[in-house]
Amino acid sequence: MIQKTLKSRKARLQPLCRWLRYEIFLVILFMVFCVIPGFASEQEIAPRKSYAVVTEHDWQRLLHRAHLAGLRIFESDHLVLITDRTSRAGDALEDLPVIFDEAVRIWASHYRIPPSAVRKWKVCGCLVVDRERFRKAGLLPDTIPDFTNGYCDHYRFWLTEQSNPAYQRHLLLHEGVHAFTATLLNLNTPTWYTEGIAEWLATHRLAKGPPQFQHTPIPVTPEDVEQLGRIEMIRRLRQSTKAPSLDEVFALNPTLHGTVSSYASAWAVVAFLARHPRYQEAFALTEQQPLDIGFTRRLNGQPGWNSAAASRDFDAFTADLDYGFDCSRMTINWSSGRRLPVTGATSTVTATHGWQNSGWQLEAGGQYQLRASGHCRVGQLQRSDGLLDLESTAGGISIDWYRGLPLGRLLIAQWDEKPDVGGRPKFKILAEGGETTFTAISNSPMFLKINNRPVNLSLSDGELTVNIGRKGDAFPSR
Ligand SMILES: [Zn+2]
Repeated sequence: MIQKTLKSRKARLQPLCRWLRYEIFLVILFMVFCVIPGFASEQEIAPRKSYAVVTEHDWQRLLHRAHLAGLRIFESDHLVLITDRTSRAGDALEDLPVIFDEAVRIWASHYRIPPSAVRKWKVCGCLVVDRERFRKAGLLPDTIPDFTNGYCDHYRFWLTEQSNPAYQRHLLLHEGVHAFTATLLNLNTPTWYTEGIAEWLATHRLAKGPPQFQHTPIPVTPEDVEQLGRIEMIRRLRQSTKAPSLDEVFALNPTLHGTVSSYASAWAVVAFLARHPRYQEAFALTEQQPLDIGFTRRLNGQPGWNSAAASRDFDAFTADLDYGFDCSRMTINWSSGRRLPVTGATSTVTATHGWQNSGWQLEAGGQYQLRASGHCRVGQLQRSDGLLDLESTAGGISIDWYRGLPLGRLLIAQWDEKPDVGGRPKFKILAEGGETTFTAISNSPMFLKINNRPVNLSLSDGELTVNIGRKGDAFPSR
């Protein structure tokens, strides 16, 4: 089942990047930049200083051809959508242009382009079932390569029909982001950013009731992003030890790009940079500068950028990435900590965050004993009579498990630069539970975590007290 899903997704996603092969050439032909000074002064964040003037297109000629060919047309402020797809239950093609318009507002806000500058921005997208029909109608020029799923040529893009409406919507928006960035921002960035930002800005859920675009760049639940599978792919890459490093994603080659894993990795890097407290400012600053081929170099040259630290933080990010991941609760404190006193020491671990530095450094080969006390809330269940708090001690609770361990169980780890099984560095769990002994793998800090889903952290509360000492010694008094 998984194999089948992987195969079909790979086939679906490969063509997105063909856009890149033509990008440099087309961008040079197309763009005229201008500087628009002094607008929207009330905004807290300064608006973008430069972006292209919208080229207004008269789509009437194309619409006339579409009419003659008997194609369906849906139109909104920012999109003309032409399709030969017939109505199907749940398809809601007529909603797509309005959703597209809502997404355009998010994209403009992301790049700090004032709404007035995109008011007349309008693109033409073709949702294609039968390519020959579009070719005969003059709506699919021979100059467009034989794409598999999607292709963008500035103010025009094409996508093939998808069986899943949510994924079809995502693909439409992905190509829409390419159109937006190519036409308004002259984008000519390395592959990881070009594809990563298209994935980041396209990822969404539909609000209940009237269809409404809600940007969920890191989705909270799988149901919000049917068949997208980015988070699952990163998980599989980590488990198979094939997860790329940050630098490997930065170096993604356009000609090799196009697998599901490369799309997932590109999205993951943008998610990491856009949300991680240590990097989001540098990333936002770089995005405000020219989106050209020097993007990665410029990002790495931002004040305070530390490539080794960023690489380690990215590895920690991909290792724990999951639905509802909240960087502010999962950021790692890497400080080396103090040497553990011979008399032992005490630390605490909160239920509201991911891996936490105990503040105590262990010695490689040293044997330690640990005892934890207290209880905390590790989630809440909605029941007919109200919310039920899930209370746990360091042993965890048996009614719910996460990543093979009971929810709420105390995990003790050190950062492992070279895992025995290969793959990227990660936290190696040395012990678990409320009373345990273990051997340290390196001269490095002891990290603690209460096992939980990232999405549960905001529902959690409380902390455990942890006593740590050399094996055989007495524990410190509590
Ligand atoms: Zn793409």
